[in-house]
Amino acid sequence: MAKKDYYEILGVSRDASQDDIKKAYRKLAMKYHPDRNPDDKQAEEKFKKVSEAYEVLSDPEKRKRYDTYGYEGVRQTFSRGGFTWEDFHHFDDLSDIFGGGLGGFFEEIFGGGSPFGSQGTGRRGRRVHRGRNVKIRLKITLKEAATGSTKKVRLKKREICETCQGSRAAPGSSTKPCPKCEGTGKHTVTQGGGFIFTYSTTCDLCRGEGEIVEKPCQTCGGRGLVAREKTLEVKVPAGIHSGQRLVLNGEGEPSPDGGPPGDLYAEILIEEHKLFKRENEDVYLDYPISFIEAIQGTELQVPTLYGKARLKVAPGTQPGTLLRLKGQGIPRLQSFGRGDQYVRINVELPKKINSRQKELLEEFKKIQDESNFPKIKAFKKTLKEWFGKISS
Ligand SMILES: [Zn+2]
Ligand SMILES: [Zn+2]
Repeated sequence: MAKKDYYEILGVSRDASQDDIKKAYRKLAMKYHPDRNPDDKQAEEKFKKVSEAYEVLSDPEKRKRYDTYGYEGVRQTFSRGGFTWEDFHHFDDLSDIFGGGLGGFFEEIFGGGSPFGSQGTGRRGRRVHRGRNVKIRLKITLKEAATGSTKKVRLKKREICETCQGSRAAPGSSTKPCPKCEGTGKHTVTQGGGFIFTYSTTCDLCRGEGEIVEKPCQTCGGRGLVAREKTLEVKVPAGIHSGQRLVLNGEGEPSPDGGPPGDLYAEILIEEHKLFKRENEDVYLDYPISFIEAIQGTELQVPTLYGKARLKVAPGTQPGTLLRLKGQGIPRLQSFGRGDQYVRINVELPKKINSRQKELLEEFKKIQDESNFPKIKAFKKTLKEWFGKISS
């Protein structure tokens, strides 16, 4: 069979740019698309040729081979045999070609944002589906959020059935093309009224699979997939927050029909820490000391997320005072450095004291003066003014 030149088919010159090729293809594909020309064999033929030409010329590698060796140089590309319009789903840049502005009609034809696109070839070049995404919750400790960690996760997900290799058919039996949609997985519906239009829907007999399984595989019940426990390693970056999601591309479930696998989403849940409270990149630690330590001053050994630190508490430190340990907080996920650790000094007073302690306090009371309690002194003054105003 004489083959027409690919450049001629697209109506472009031999030195046409990728952009020109894309434009020419887009125009012709829209004109001859089978869904726009239902039951028009000639249009379908033209559509196939245009598509074939585009598949070669849009790929710099294939184009070079074609330029050098002619049709023979790229023939193996089509060794699959029939080139059906469903092959369109294999082009990488369809959305690029058809842009966003075409609206519902081409969305339907080309599958919009869905399971097709660059994502692979089905068993007979029909549409394929992405495997399901898997979502898990991943509990980590605050320390792991601070240092980053690799978590081993056990999860249940569906894998390709080993008995039928995902074909869904019992060993020895086979699948046959769906009689209703002739293996395309799509069913063309024509509606008429004041006007006539055609659209395609998912075939209801084979549910879009394009084929019918005569004897379903018993291991997987004809689903092609079986649930299995799996252990997976998830790398958690330092600085992650509760509620953030990590995406592991391709770690979801495999496609039931040769498409790309889904993704794994791990939502991070940081467990409450016994000692530390996180606030953004800072951590807070409440540290109780006795009123005597607060008065006399002391030195504390303070735990941090990374070990321990020594912290001086000055004589006369007031309850609630925040002392800072610089850089001992949590790393900033998308930036540099770490937050700080704050140590909040809580002062504990004895609830009960013995008689000897009472005696000593009496002694202290006798020799204390107002300068020991400047806040009380200032407050008393304000109160006095206030009560004076009320009585006058
Ligand atoms: Zn099976
Ligand atoms: Zn069907």
